[in-house]
Amino acid sequence: MDKPAEGDYSIEDCGIDHEQYFPGVGTAYTGWDSVFTGIGETLREAIEDALESAAQGDIDTTNIDPTAGFSSSELDAPLHDPTDECQSDDEDCPHHHYAAFFVRGE
Ligand SMILES: [Zn+2]
Repeated sequence: MDKPAEGDYSIEDCGIDHEQYFPGVGTAYTGWDSVFTGIGETLREAIEDALESAAQGDIDTTNIDPTAGFSSSELDAPLHDPTDECQSDDEDCPHHHYAAFFVRGE
């Protein structure tokens, strides 16, 4: 697929969730044709992961600014507060930041 034009894609912050409880993201009734989800320790990593999946799905993401519309405090917010019982460097931390990349027209 060619580079999606402005307005033919959207990046959404799906927040932090437990990997077993994340409901997933679908395109039914959204007007989008495809969605790629990404995970990471921060929103920034999650968006980059979602764009990487899209690129593997043959979507040219080279012109897309993964940080557009988000502040750096949103992009780099830590997964856990220092007081949380679970910390992201725990080996069995089941939490991820999730992001979705929606695309129209294929
Ligand atoms: Zn955790």
